Amino acid sequence: MVSNEVCPRCGLPFSYIKRKRVGRKVYLYAVHYLGYAKTPNGRIKKKTRECYLGPEESYDYVTVMHEKEGLVLKGVIDSDRALAYLDALIDYISNVSLDRNLALNLAVKFDSLSKKLREHAKG
Ligand SMILES: [Zn+2]
Repeated sequence: MVSNEVCPRCGLPFSYIKRKRVGRKVYLYAVHYLGYAKTPNGRIKKKTRECYLGPEESYDYVTVMHEKEGLVLKGVIDSDRALAYLDALIDYISNVSLDRNLALNLAVKFDSLSKKLREHAKG
């Protein structure tokens, strides 16, 4: 599947679709991995380049502009949706101070989600 993922902007394969929320809108970026780089303080950092794809609600625009790649892109988005949502949720949880009840509720849900996923993985 990875070999089919072509960025509609630059035509190169990309690693994943990134969602950035700005206010109430979500913008999509294709993220290209460019290997690894060392930061001045000696840490290893992933080098990436992002291509702006447009607002999330305009898939159709992308599809019309680049019919073939656009369809590929849409497929990628659909199959990665669960992961993207989870990433967004994890981001959210890490960046706000959670109400204690909400934190507990989420923990219970994540426990049961994790259990279900492990059962899935076993087949
Ligand atoms: Zn690109």
